[in-house]
Amino acid sequence: MFQWFGKVNYSPFTKVGEFADHLKDGRLMGSRCKSCGTTSFPPRADCEQCMSGDFEFHEISGKAVLHTFTKIVAAPTGFEDATPYIVGVVDLEEGGRALAWFGDSINEDEITIGMPLQLVPRIFDEVEEIKVYYSLDKPGTTWSKV
Ligand SMILES: [Zn+2]
Repeated sequence: MFQWFGKVNYSPFTKVGEFADHLKDGRLMGSRCKSCGTTSFPPRADCEQCMSGDFEFHEISGKAVLHTFTKIVAAPTGFEDATPYIVGVVDLEEGGRALAWFGDSINEDEITIGMPLQLVPRIFDEVEEIKVYYSLDKPGTTWSKV
């Protein structure tokens, strides 16, 4: 039952449900408030700055800088087989933050706070309610639907 624990599950039935459709097309979308211009990732239907509900989607590059990271040795239920693994929090170039696993393109001894990274969506179940996780890989890493 904890198979999907920790993975992001987007319901297609919310105001930001279109996010899932864009992800299926391989596009990473943030939201931009039409009132004050604040950008957010993950997309928010209601602005964190001015509370306006008037937003639009805008594509983001996924270019990011490492804010912090940690190595998980004692994993939560369902992730025992993956240990040890490293997760990081990145500041996205267009605004917003994301939590993601480090991908295979980066060795542990290369990881330093402030390093440039690419946030890569990894979709592994194409159903209406998609399952996605993100990896952090070298700048310039591209992706397409898995
Ligand atoms: Zn706003």
